Amino acid sequence: MDITAKRASAEDNPLTGTQNAIEDSRVPRIGTMTGAARWIRLVSRIVVAVAIAALLPLPSLADESNLEAVAVRALRWAFYASNGYRWEYSGILVIHDGQLRYSASPSTLKQVDAVEMDAEKQRTPGDTLVGLYHTHPCNSDVYFPQYFSPQDLVSAFFYHVPTFILDECTGEVHEFDPLRDRAADTGTVVRVLRKDGTRTWVRLPAGRVVGDIGDQGPDLSLIERLMSHTTQ
Ligand SMILES: [Zn+2]
Repeated sequence: MDITAKRASAEDNPLTGTQNAIEDSRVPRIGTMTGAARWIRLVSRIVVAVAIAALLPLPSLADESNLEAVAVRALRWAFYASNGYRWEYSGILVIHDGQLRYSASPSTLKQVDAVEMDAEKQRTPGDTLVGLYHTHPCNSDVYFPQYFSPQDLVSAFFYHVPTFILDECTGEVHEFDPLRDRAADTGTVVRVLRKDGTRTWVRLPAGRVVGDIGDQGPDLSLIERLMSHTTQ
């Protein structure tokens, strides 16, 4: 659950170059044309604008459900990685050559509650970052796999992209999009122990459930309890 969003410099912005603004420098010179010519010019400009809009990969509902479907596939893949039910795995969703892709080999720190979320390390040249994802193994005694941790949100806000988590207790995939979701709208408030020993209240949002991998991990807390009984 503890993930580290590496600070990137301003020049290193992962979003640079993702949006191409269409600029029209041809300012109509009013007064030099007749009314009819102006009208024809206006209509042709609208036709051109509509044609360009149809060709651009503008965000739409179809794209969004596509991103969610790919996120579910990516998390299923990460879940079936080596020790996927025990360790947190993370990866990125990118557009490469017009195609939506996920990390072929998601990264792990081989820990149940820590994963590195450094999108730059996983990005290859030509990738446009469009989402982050990571798994939450089912360890219900230790943390809440169904909620986003404060660090999970930090990385989503840092990279300005939706972030997806897999709750391995249920198999459900949750999405939190910093552009449309508010942390206060979902989830729960829990009391956590800070490093300095004091306690504080923290909101853990659940985001929106956008899919299911169709499988669940074992409850690691249960296994640990059984192990401690048999080894004592
Ligand atoms: Zn997390």
